[in-house]
Amino acid sequence: MTPPTPLEVNAEAEALIVLRHGEIFLKGDNRHHFEQLLVRNARRALTGIPGVTLERAQGRCFARVPQAQAARATSALQRVFGISSLSPAIPCPPALDALSAVAVHALRGLLRQRAIRSFKVATRRSDKRFPLPSTAVSSQIGAAIIDALGLPVDVHTPEVTVGVEIGREHCFVFVERLPGGGGLPVGSTGEVLLLLSGGIDSPVAGHLMQKRGCAVQAIYFHSPPHTGPRAEDKVQRLAARLALSQQQPVALHVVRFTAIQELIHAGAPAELLVVLYRRAMMRVASVVARSCGCTALVTGDNLGQVASQTLENLACVEDAAELPVLRPLLTYDKHETVALAERLGSFEISIEPHLDCCSLFVPRHPATRVSLKRAATAEAALALAPLLEQAAREAQIYRALPAGSSASARNIFRLSQSPLVAK
Ligand code: ATP
Ligand code: MG
Repeated sequence: MTPPTPLEVNAEAEALIVLRHGEIFLKGDNRHHFEQLLVRNARRALTGIPGVTLERAQGRCFARVPQAQAARATSALQRVFGISSLSPAIPCPPALDALSAVAVHALRGLLRQRAIRSFKVATRRSDKRFPLPSTAVSSQIGAAIIDALGLPVDVHTPEVTVGVEIGREHCFVFVERLPGGGGLPVGSTGEVLLLLSGGIDSPVAGHLMQKRGCAVQAIYFHSPPHTGPRAEDKVQRLAARLALSQQQPVALHVVRFTAIQELIHAGAPAELLVVLYRRAMMRVASVVARSCGCTALVTGDNLGQVASQTLENLACVEDAAELPVLRPLLTYDKHETVALAERLGSFEISIEPHLDCCSLFVPRHPATRVSLKRAATAEAALALAPLLEQAAREAQIYRALPAGSSASARNIFRLSQSPLVAK
């Protein structure tokens, strides 16, 4: 059999992107729901890319895109959680000659980018009307590749696997398997409220919760005039970044913390300040979370990174929360967090200088083991409750739309005041 020349391959018109979902298979009866969320999120990720269609077939999803948009669509889809891997593929008629020609064409394309030491062909034939069994298809296409390109076969540890799929609805060839976001589709496991500061850690913590299927809302505490508008602008851009990785806007609740902080500062022992600020944040965040349907709080805390993050102090802070406090970064080394921040695109924003309200008025050596009793005694001397209530009630809610790291805060819209105002 002589394979047609690449010129006969009409591979340029339309690209097919095969989306595979990993853990969704584990979800039994919920699988349909998970798949629907995955398709919804994939569709949202592709917003603004012209000529795209998405379909589900045989336990997978397929995106059809004009060839010119394939690279853009592929990188947008790589961000979608719940997709374990994806392959840009070339659609093809179900005929051995055509499949061989397309496989040669695709490998030649890859060869233009890099050397290939070895390959194998793996065929999946779900359309049993096709006359040859899959092993025969693989060996015949393999022979055509050897003829045309002279590449060596390695069936055990090939550098490149040429995938061939012959199905009733789709027939295609692919040579790449790119990583997807992994995890579970955003929205499949609930909604959480992330305590988002301008630092490196909290955006990454939010990102990891998104990976486990949570939609994220964010809450930011600031103390104007001690903290400036630039810090708030930074947090807004971080929220927009998180919106990009969950394919939907992030509600950002901005809480004015000044009066609370000043009261604590004036009336509590200096070495307790950080823990007491945090306890106050937990109380306000719990009220806001309840009012907006979030069932857990999330922080970027890490065990042992700073004085407020000892087991004793974390326990003391958590005691003030009315909802579970999740800390996905607890065990991470800083360089692991930084690597994730770079992938998320938040790192560049986080390293811009800013002053966080928790670093205001704090001593050089805060207490590392604050007992609940000490914290409660210090709080009892302060009339905090009305201020906490007021801060939650007066939180400003913004809607951060998906944006890349270079985007400005123009993508943020003030939505409304807290729903607590109406209560
Ligand atoms: P990050 O880099 O996220 O600021 P960090 O390692 O600097 O974290 P801390 O500053 O001690 O640690 O803060 C611990 C966590 O407390 C943060 O990850 C964040 O979840 C929360 N937090 C701190 N400051 C604020 C704030 N101003 N608004 C909202 N959350 C905050
Ligand atoms: Mg910080």
